[in-house]
Amino acid sequence: MKYVSTRNNSKEYSFEEVFIKGLADDGGLYVPTSLKKFSSDELSELKNLNYNDLSTEIINQFSSDFISKDDLTSLIKKSYSTFREKEVVKISNIGDLKLLELFHGPTLAFKDVAMQFIGNLYEYYLSKNDKKINIVVATSGDTGAAAIDAIKGKSNLNIFVLHPNNRISPVQRKLMTTVEDKNVFNIAIDGNFDDCQNIVKQMFSDLNFSKSINMSGVNSINWARIIAQAVYYFYTYFKINEDKPISFSVPTGNFGDVFAGYLAKEMGLPIDKLIVATNENDILHRAISNGDYISKKVKETLSPSMDIQLASNFERLIYYVNNSNSDITSDIMKKVKYNEYKIEKSNLDIIQKDFISESCDENETLEIIKKNFEINSIILDPHTAVGVGAANKLNLNDCVVLSTAHPCKFPAATDKAINKHEELPIELQYVHSKEENFQLLKNEAEAVKNFVKSKL
Ligand SMILES: *Cc1c(COP(=O)(O)O)cnc(C)c1O
Repeated sequence: MKYVSTRNNSKEYSFEEVFIKGLADDGGLYVPTSLKKFSSDELSELKNLNYNDLSTEIINQFSSDFISKDDLTSLIKKSYSTFREKEVVKISNIGDLKLLELFHGPTLAFKDVAMQFIGNLYEYYLSKNDKKINIVVATSGDTGAAAIDAIKGKSNLNIFVLHPNNRISPVQRKLMTTVEDKNVFNIAIDGNFDDCQNIVKQMFSDLNFSKSINMSGVNSINWARIIAQAVYYFYTYFKINEDKPISFSVPTGNFGDVFAGYLAKEMGLPIDKLIVATNENDILHRAISNGDYISKKVKETLSPSMDIQLASNFERLIYYVNNSNSDITSDIMKKVKYNEYKIEKSNLDIIQKDFISESCDENETLEIIKKNFEINSIILDPHTAVGVGAANKLNLNDCVVLSTAHPCKFPAATDKAINKHEELPIELQYVHSKEENFQLLKNEAEAVKNFVKSKL
């Protein structure tokens, strides 16, 4: 399968390039030139597969030029052997809604599902290429921990993780900063998540620097992450087995997870609506409900992994709704850059065929946590609570809410709502007493570049 950039689709790339580079040199995102569309007969054949075999079938549609199906099978098996659930994810009920629990991996958030896979994909790549790679990634809390766990201890790989100082939960931070492996470097930036993300972007676009260190990225625009996430939409549809299209409510920040749902739908999975659920950082809700894609200042909320105002993956949707026209996409992205983009009515109509949106403010999020604890005896993490709240507000009461984090990762939020929090799973409790290691740096790309160079 070949790939192109959303900003210039005259040049084709291989899966290997797409995976290793993450972002195209022209600033665009990689998308495949065609998609496998499963017929209903083909879907029936996938229906009874276990999670690992289903992953192989879906991911193989995209990666077969790079990795053989046999190698992919063992790579996936290895990736998901680190999960506390044998079937990787778990579907449970809360009231009329279903929860798709995606937090049973090593760092307690859905990001493990893609990241464990990606870590092993790097290892596979390096077994064929004599190179050393330096991964640099910005995190709003969960990506960093998941990436560190996936990369720690692997040879010829270093990982540098930038998190916004004091703006992530202590549990999120400790899951990153207590890792002792020599190839892991934590950096706290005196700024917010968008600042961290901007520094990483600047480092990438300094081609002298980024090429000299073989810099690679694992943030949520990496296509390999999206395809690994598309798998659980298929899995859920098959498990629920209702013979009608189902809707998903997806707590959203960078539009990665919900885009994976769109990909599954484009591949023929009967999905009705994808609910884009946001916290008070509601640019995507404003965009999808009335075309207002104007970013505002980031607010700190109870759901920090969604405190984002620049939803990078949205560019992929823009590309698709404009009939894969990369000139138009480029022009739109210029407007986005100057914060001047309103979605055209005709495009908004197309988007609204697949997506609807809602946003929950802080009080609503606390109320949802409280109500679900009182009625259903379930403690929701604040991100999942936003997903549940959006489904409730839209009256879509038989949909599946993606439960993106374990509640124990956000004890301050649940304490505030119900005066209770969950403890970390026993095997992770050591992080509370272990020494933390990170470097505080100024909100400047130069400072981070110098730090990285000093470590190589
Ligand atoms: C990253 C994250 C999200 C948002 O996912 P996107 O792919 O960025 O939309 C939601 N919930 C949790 C717990 C996360 O870690």
